[in-house]
Amino acid sequence: MRLLIMGPPGAGKGTQAEALVVKYNIPHISTGDIFRSALREGTPLGLEAKEYMDRGQLVPDDLVVSIVVDKLESLGSGSGFLLDGFPRTLPQAEALDGRLKDLGGGLDAVINIEVPPQVIVERLTGRRVCRQCSSTYHLKHNPSQVRGICDTCGGELYQRDDDSLETVQERLDVYNRQTQPLIKHYQEQGLLLSVDGTKEIPAVLEAITAALKQKEE
Ligand code: ADP
Ligand code: AMP
Repeated sequence: MRLLIMGPPGAGKGTQAEALVVKYNIPHISTGDIFRSALREGTPLGLEAKEYMDRGQLVPDDLVVSIVVDKLESLGSGSGFLLDGFPRTLPQAEALDGRLKDLGGGLDAVINIEVPPQVIVERLTGRRVCRQCSSTYHLKHNPSQVRGICDTCGGELYQRDDDSLETVQERLDVYNRQTQPLIKHYQEQGLLLSVDGTKEIPAVLEAITAALKQKEE
């Protein structure tokens, strides 16, 4: 299965991706996680990406595209995957289309999680992420069993620098300007499956898997 999951920041992409990659046994490619782990390791890529991430802006297309292309090539042409947080601009989407064509096969579906802006601010400011394994929690909607500690690996939970109130607004503006137009791009390719992301986490997962099943039939 070759999937892409999109939606505004805080829509629940990473949360749903965690379950989908287990269900479909495919690798999870999150460009945000790639940048955050590069930053943890102090690599030049991480330091360059941080400049943009801290301001709520997008990392330049050429940098992101080359990372994803390398990753897809390392998986091999027959492999499935779930792309999360990529593409975020039309040039990124076009580069992906071209690369997948070269590798012999396109996407099976694009999952679009719909959530209104007023829900997003509360979701992002309450988000907590594991420093070790990147599992995602929410103080109110999806708390860890022990406050501050990851259920999966026992790692420390932290608040992302870019989940501050000021940066969230900029990220929403960036999404509306640069990423939202991709909905039409994938709609035209007959790939888009939109789901209501305001429901509870298990209900959203159910809606996604039902939509994927229906598309396969
Ligand atoms: P994204 O990857 O789209 O930025 P996340 O998956 O990190 O979003 O989710 C953002 C925050 O909202 C996290 O704190 C997560 O626990 C919480 N969350 C995700 N899905 C839901 C949901 N359906 N209902 C309530 N909270 C959710
Ligand atoms: P995310 O974890 O998906 O919320 O991404 C966090 C930040 O990483 C974004 O606000 C961007 O600065 C950067 N980023 C992640 N994916 C991309 C992408 N596809 N294109 C450009 N920037 C990205």
